[in-house]
Amino acid sequence: MSGPILLPGATGANGDGQPTTLGVMGGGQLGRMFVHAAQAMGYFTVVLDPDVISPAGLVSHYHIQTGYLDDQGLVQLMQRCAAVTTEFENVPAGALVTLGAARPTAPSADAVAIAQDRIKEKAHLARSGVPVAPYAVIESAADLASVTDNLLPGILKTARLGYDGKGQVRVRTREELAAAWEVLKNVPCVLEKMLPLAAECSVIVARGWNGVCVHFAPQLNLHRQGILAVTQAYEGNMPLAQANQAVAASKEIANELHYVGVLCVEFFVLAEGSPERAALGPLVVNEMAPRPHNSGHYTLDACDQSQFDLQVRTLTGLPLVQPRQHSAAVMLNLLGDLWVDGVTPCWDKVLALPGVHLHLYGKLSANKGRKMGHLTVTAATADEANATALQASRLLGIEAF
Ligand code: ATP
Ligand code: MG
Repeated sequence: MSGPILLPGATGANGDGQPTTLGVMGGGQLGRMFVHAAQAMGYFTVVLDPDVISPAGLVSHYHIQTGYLDDQGLVQLMQRCAAVTTEFENVPAGALVTLGAARPTAPSADAVAIAQDRIKEKAHLARSGVPVAPYAVIESAADLASVTDNLLPGILKTARLGYDGKGQVRVRTREELAAAWEVLKNVPCVLEKMLPLAAECSVIVARGWNGVCVHFAPQLNLHRQGILAVTQAYEGNMPLAQANQAVAASKEIANELHYVGVLCVEFFVLAEGSPERAALGPLVVNEMAPRPHNSGHYTLDACDQSQFDLQVRTLTGLPLVQPRQHSAAVMLNLLGDLWVDGVTPCWDKVLALPGVHLHLYGKLSANKGRKMGHLTVTAATADEANATALQASRLLGIEAF
């Protein structure tokens, strides 16, 4: 596959023509950080999102405020931009098919269609060379009846539209499984065996139109209530052999998909001494996200290129150079829970600590569990980054990690 090289800045003989404009489907925080990276390089941006005050729409040159499948909105987007990317995997694949026929679109509709359906995704991930959790597809009462006991206790996950642990129910028995499927309205699901996790990690790769693929080292992720809470990114955060295996598997997944763009692959590290680890090995691939990922936000402050810079480069066909991490980093997610009774958290105290980078996404209402921003601590050593991040979490009332 090939794509054009879209240089930033004004086109035309005297540089007085139209500026090169990049489009993004979705106006959330990932779109916002893409827009920031694109604008820093001199691109104009256009965001399509139905929300009047979306995080990305607020900072983009243009905001087309329509639904993702709105014909007029898509036509306007194509007229405005030279290439299109997406910031969340639930953009209807049909919209990406329409866009992809007229403009370079990365990731492709095909890749997004796989990532947005756990059933297709599992089948694809199973070819990566790293195992997936044992699972069964549940689409009918017959599927439910034929579930084998070894998958229990397990987690029933809707095939589509899940995020941050939503659309998932933990089940211990067949009765609970049947009840959970009803709660999930009998939509297509996968039942995954509950695995004993020692840790979770993720790998972010960026692959260009020409097949060149670069990566960030695996980051260690702590989830709470199904939502990412803390990411630790520094050398030695996990055994080197496992880190190498995770990177190799992630690149394999991207290559198999002929993927263009930034891709995040999430892994489970299984508990030592568990029968599951004896059967599957230390690493199990969980899922992938066809976009930059929350666990890669530290790259904004701790690396010479961020995951969003790489998203711009993959989309525009600019060279992909292996990024270098220059600081140890710990990222804390800032959820709406911190705005207790509408009181603004003590950013002034937190920003008095060394190496603290505050990122807020411009969201005006702080609901419980809503991702309002993140904070990255950079430091010369992992110990310093962890110590400062712990101080910041104490000040903010975030549970220690
Ligand atoms: P995301 O926000 O990453 O899109 P999601 O809603 O798609 O999340 P998953 O990544 O499937 O959900 O699961 C959320 C979390 O639940 C995982 O990060 C992990 O902590 C836990 N979990 C999921 N599946 C399993 C499993 N099979 N065994 C043990 N824990 C699991
Ligand atoms: Mg996940």
